[in-house]
Amino acid sequence: MSTLAYIGLGANLGNARQTIAAAIDALRQSSGILTLKQAPLYSSDPVDAQGPIFINTVVAIDTTLEPLSLLDRLQAIEQEHGRERPYRNAPRTLDLDLLLYGTFTIDTPRLSVPHPRMHHRAFVLRPLKDLTPDLQLAQGSFTTLLAGCQDQKLDRLVD
Ligand code: ADP
Ligand code: MG
Repeated sequence: MSTLAYIGLGANLGNARQTIAAAIDALRQSSGILTLKQAPLYSSDPVDAQGPIFINTVVAIDTTLEPLSLLDRLQAIEQEHGRERPYRNAPRTLDLDLLLYGTFTIDTPRLSVPHPRMHHRAFVLRPLKDLTPDLQLAQGSFTTLLAGCQDQKLDRLVD
């Protein structure tokens, strides 16, 4: 049995586009990740973080990994790309967040799913909507949620 999960990707240091592409390749090659579908790329101004603009996207995966094993895998991929955590919300080469894991709610010290801030972030909502326009989020429709983040600058990148 596999579960449909969504992962948010962001990078804002170094060659961010290349880092995102490498992270997606690493996800595709992970055992326990059966299929992967990628949304378009966006650029965004930092919201809670600092530094240069971010490159963002979202991927949908079918996975047999349990949520914490999936988080382990995401954090290993972050480490492979030189992620350091000098302080909270510091600029990062790569950030991988587990947005949704099926319809599960998870609330542990290491993992909160649905991701608690995803509903306020245009750089998550827009690519998520591109992938699955019919997805119902508990916090409201994409239209309503996106209307609440109109002040966040977000541009779709050309391929
Ligand atoms: P953020 O993504 O909020 O900017 P980090 O990537 O540094 O911050 O993550 C901080 C911690 O958040 C991680 O050590 C991880 O255990 C925890 N965490 C809780 N819920 C999630 C989630 N849904 N996806 C990814 N990390 C999560
Ligand atoms: Mg993170």
